[in-house]
Amino acid sequence: MSVSSTKAPEPTLFIDGKWCHSSDGKSREVINPFDASVFTYVDEATTADAERAIVSAKKFFTDSDWPHLKCADRVPLLAKTAELLQRDKAILAKLECHDTGKAYREAEIDVDDVTNTFKYYAKAALDLDHDRVIKSEYLPETAKNSIRAEPVGVCTLISPWNFPLLQICWKLAPALATGNVVIIKPSEVTPLTTIHLTKLLLEAGFPPLSIQLLTAAGSSIGDTICQHDDVDLVSFTGGLQTGRRIIRSCAEGIKRCCLELGGKNPNIVFADMPLDIAIDNVTTAVFFHSGQVCSSGTRLIVEESIADKLVAGVVEKARNIKMGSAFDESTETGPLVSEAHLKKIEAFIEMGKKEGAKLLVGGSRPDPKKFPELAKGYFFQPTVFDQCDRSMKIVTEETFGPILTVERFKDGDEARAIFLANDTKYGLSGGVQSGDVEKANRVARKMRHGTIWINNFGPFSPAGEWGGYGISGNGRELGASGLDEYIEKKHIWEETQPALTEWFAKSKL
Ligand code: NAD
Repeated sequence: MSVSSTKAPEPTLFIDGKWCHSSDGKSREVINPFDASVFTYVDEATTADAERAIVSAKKFFTDSDWPHLKCADRVPLLAKTAELLQRDKAILAKLECHDTGKAYREAEIDVDDVTNTFKYYAKAALDLDHDRVIKSEYLPETAKNSIRAEPVGVCTLISPWNFPLLQICWKLAPALATGNVVIIKPSEVTPLTTIHLTKLLLEAGFPPLSIQLLTAAGSSIGDTICQHDDVDLVSFTGGLQTGRRIIRSCAEGIKRCCLELGGKNPNIVFADMPLDIAIDNVTTAVFFHSGQVCSSGTRLIVEESIADKLVAGVVEKARNIKMGSAFDESTETGPLVSEAHLKKIEAFIEMGKKEGAKLLVGGSRPDPKKFPELAKGYFFQPTVFDQCDRSMKIVTEETFGPILTVERFKDGDEARAIFLANDTKYGLSGGVQSGDVEKANRVARKMRHGTIWINNFGPFSPAGEWGGYGISGNGRELGASGLDEYIEKKHIWEETQPALTEWFAKSKL
């Protein structure tokens, strides 16, 4: 992933309406995590490139009609983008596989999900074209009061490497539907689908100056694109430490700041849940995409009487998960995204062992003698730690890898299960698995997390809402709230019968 003077095969920066190379000619390797080979090179934008993009974006926002159009005028562009995403589904899915290592069928699902996101916002934004008239006993009858939705301005959109296409589209669709202009910065680890997506947005007819794309490391241009005076909003999905830095920058500039951060997500399983479904749900919740999912169910909190059987079932399934190439149809999960991330996961395993958790399965890379085809890539075996408790960092810190920890509670002690589930500073997602729907709903209501799945773990919809409690973030994506992030609400007070106020009646002219 190093930066060098090798020229990127094609320009990957889109600034001021034109594709261009970085101003210092430097590029960054894009590594295929399946075998650690260099897949291609992309431009590494400089801070000067970033400033040029922001100034161009601000000028377009200030001078053009784009922010003043009706949402209905932008709807065809969103609808066309959805159509083009489907047209190029195979191209996008392949690029995502080379970038992230995820299984091809998973990448295809991502393309379908983002297609639906564009379609959803094409409809949802239409509601904003009608000013909301306020009727209230607290307003005089001679005043017409209404609320008008307007775009916020120049929005910096920063995405992570685990769902590169998905996460950027959750921001782009509502931001563009509402007439903002965007500075897009994908993760330097996985920029490829965002570059192709930018081409599709232009083909769909979005004004070239409404979109600026910067491929570069956050550590080099991050401060510029978050702190610049001409940036009005930063929407960030990524890690806690980066999020903290960004919200401080935004506080200084009084900028809108939407953070979608990590999770340490509990999955409560009661003894009355059918065992086979519980095993399936727990395994999928934690090992999907090799655990590189912000909302993955990494903490199993299980009722004592079924714990041994459930854990044995999950261990058996984990042992047999088929890892491999994205393009092998039998592959169930791919590698970790990078060597750096692999090292992080290995460090967590050592920490878990030192803390006294009992390793039941996994805990290392696959044996190269048994699996020579996986030897070059960043593969890591699905891992289960039993006998865990809240004093262990392996239970409290986000590992973002294929690691399940097991905590148990006494039969019938619903309050203890809820306590354990809430005893975290994170609050992104959680699950409750129970054959008693009333109990499951009662527990779900008491869990302090942004999304709770009952008798499932993981699905989402563009019409739903997404976001965290606590240190999992302060923003909301998808649904009506996802649109709200990108609008200013202007209050218009119109006197229908203008008259003298006579407040200063005593002062003489
Ligand atoms: P990261 O914080 O390292 O990087 C995320 C993005 O921020 C990248 O584009 C990176 O280049 C950029 N960045 C880095 N430093 C920056 C700076 N100083 N200023 C501005 N931008 C900067 O995170 P990651 O490793 O790419 O992603 C993993 C994290 O993302 C995990 O914690 C995961 O839980 C979280 N995540 C959350 C959600 C959610 O919806 N809540 C979804 C996906 C991932």
